[in-house]
Amino acid sequence: MSHLWAQIVLPISVVLVLSAMLVGVWAQRITVREATQAAERETVRLAETIGRLIIDQVLDGTSFQLDLMLDSVQDEGILKSIAVLDPYGLTIAGAQALGSSGVPATESDLFLHVLTQGGGAHRRLESSIVAYWAVPYLDGVVGAVRIERLLDDVVNDAQAVKSRNLAVMLGATGLLIIVCLVIVKRSTARLNRLTTVVRAVKEGDWGVTVEPSGYDEIGDLERGFQTMLSTVSSTMKESEALAYQDGVTQLPNRACFLRSLRAALAYGQGTIRGHILFIDLDRFKAVNDVMGHSAGDRVLKEVAQRLQSVVETCPARKTKLARIGGDEFTVLLAGADDEAAEALARSLIGVFDQPFEVGAQSFSIGCSIGLCPYPQEGRDVDTIIRKADLAMYEAKQSGRGRMVRYHGGLADAVERRADLQMELGEAIQARALHVVYQPQVWAGERTVFGVEALARWIRRSGEEVSPSEFVPLADDMGLVGDLGRLVREQALSDIGRLHARGHRLSVSVNVSALELFADSFADEVADLVARTGFDPTRLEIEITESTAIQSPDLLCGPIRQLKALGVRFAIDDFGVGYSSLSTLSSLPFDTLKVDRSFVSDVHIRPDAQALLSAISAMAKSLSLETIAEGVEKAEEATLLEELGMSAMQGFYFARPKRIDALHALMDECVDVSMARAPGHAAADRAKAG
Ligand code: C2E
Ligand code: CA
Ligand code: CA
Repeated sequence: MSHLWAQIVLPISVVLVLSAMLVGVWAQRITVREATQAAERETVRLAETIGRLIIDQVLDGTSFQLDLMLDSVQDEGILKSIAVLDPYGLTIAGAQALGSSGVPATESDLFLHVLTQGGGAHRRLESSIVAYWAVPYLDGVVGAVRIERLLDDVVNDAQAVKSRNLAVMLGATGLLIIVCLVIVKRSTARLNRLTTVVRAVKEGDWGVTVEPSGYDEIGDLERGFQTMLSTVSSTMKESEALAYQDGVTQLPNRACFLRSLRAALAYGQGTIRGHILFIDLDRFKAVNDVMGHSAGDRVLKEVAQRLQSVVETCPARKTKLARIGGDEFTVLLAGADDEAAEALARSLIGVFDQPFEVGAQSFSIGCSIGLCPYPQEGRDVDTIIRKADLAMYEAKQSGRGRMVRYHGGLADAVERRADLQMELGEAIQARALHVVYQPQVWAGERTVFGVEALARWIRRSGEEVSPSEFVPLADDMGLVGDLGRLVREQALSDIGRLHARGHRLSVSVNVSALELFADSFADEVADLVARTGFDPTRLEIEITESTAIQSPDLLCGPIRQLKALGVRFAIDDFGVGYSSLSTLSSLPFDTLKVDRSFVSDVHIRPDAQALLSAISAMAKSLSLETIAEGVEKAEEATLLEELGMSAMQGFYFARPKRIDALHALMDECVDVSMARAPGHAAADRAKAG
């Protein structure tokens, strides 16, 4: 504003005032001069008139008459004096005004001029005009009239006119200045608005708008500015969307999530409690591997929708769901208490109960969730995310499909896991793992007919690591295929040697989902059987119930290919996967391995007894063998036999053994023929019945 005043308003005002003054002075000078000139002309004309009128009286020398006449003229009030002079300059009449001495010395030139030349002459005095006119007679001059006219009235009149003019002028100038001010003010207000907008843009606010306020130059400027603003801001919005949105699910991306979390932490200033949920999908890799990435993207989109529909219902002050990586999602719950956060985590796990349909296939996916409360566990973004990630990792390791809340001990667990991963990779490469065999016995006879091959890993430090810990690690590292191959080669070679010695045991090997869904699995097993000459009817492949129900359709191919060779299939950990029996019965399995959780203390658990008798009835009707796992007590074994199980496995009969110990055990068997091929139990029972 000050700039505009200095640059526009002040100069304009100064110019206007100066010009008004100049015009005023000029007008005043014109008025006074014109009035004076008119008075001069009048005075001269009056002198002439009087001069011509009084010839006779001058010639007669009747000064008395002249005096009267002059008095009457002077009474009009505009003349200071009027006098008639003889050719010697002496006063004939009007002496009371001029005195008898006649022409003043300062005017003798005027008097001489009219006396010699005839006509008139006049001069401006200080405040009057004096005019002489010759009184002619024949060819000569008999005297002169002298009139002195006061100029006061003329000057006063001119002054009045001048004042009036000046007033009008100043009034007009004032008006002009006001108009100018209004115009400038309007323009500056509009320019100021533009300046404000420019400042806002400079501070990064591209959302401001400029309303065009007219059709003049400023209006054009405003329109141009608005066009530029909307173009730039829409471009910025697009690039912001690209920078802060996940292209596949349209959810906020990692950068956006971190920004929101940072803002929530700053806003709450350590007083508002909240939670971060770190969600990682389980078994999603299978979708990508089997169906390709575009199918994977479709599943991710549906996952996002399902998660979002649950997150929206959470009673938190602020919620935000984001996809921060491949199959990783995060939820920000600001102002939610522990209960609400845990309830939400459970609901989120629940959205995976329904399988995902991709084309004709259906996939059972799950999720593991890590939960980190803030500000208790951290006040900065990195710490909170890292701890939520650790908790998620723990949820994965402890069986997937669950939620784990961060606690201090997790950091140690993660360190251990990192060490294990490094060492496990080297161990698998160096084939430094070995296989142990846990015998399986027929119900009733309690003779050993087969073994389950179980992987074992002893670390360099001598620590024996459970396969429950290292198999999922190998899974994560993409090494489970190598591990499985190693175990199968070892098992077929070990048990093949037992066969050669007359102990025709069957061997069960565990196969994980990732191995099974790999295209090459069936060919690879067929190739191994062919290479080793192992009797394929003595090989059983165990697939966990949860793997089997993930994508039953996909399993059919490899199962059928291997079954054609005589290989048998078992459903492992049966009962914990809550699978529908109709789904399972559509798969060509041979054996149900009933999970240990139904077996322990079965003799004192009527509910487990009811369930087991239902399972064995169902298995019989489907011609499936049943093996009860984890038998630890004599009472359990007796009851399991009563309930109709075909076979049993557990510490009560034998712990998993190294191959030499198994040789020793089998050699102790008096009648080696007792080890019969599985599948004969039903026939035997029928015979006995
Ligand atoms: P699983 O297939 O259910 O194997 C049975 C597990 O129960 C074995 O644990 C075995 O030692 C244990 N067990 C047997 N009888 C009893 C008993 O009476 N009481 C108790 N408390 N436990 C008993 P292990 O060897 O630690 O294996 C754990 C899991 O690791 C296996 O469960 C299997 O899922 C997996 N696993 C083991 N070896 C391999 C392998 O070579 N490949 C794959 N993919 N997974 C394997
Ligand atoms: Ca098993
Ligand atoms: Ca099992």
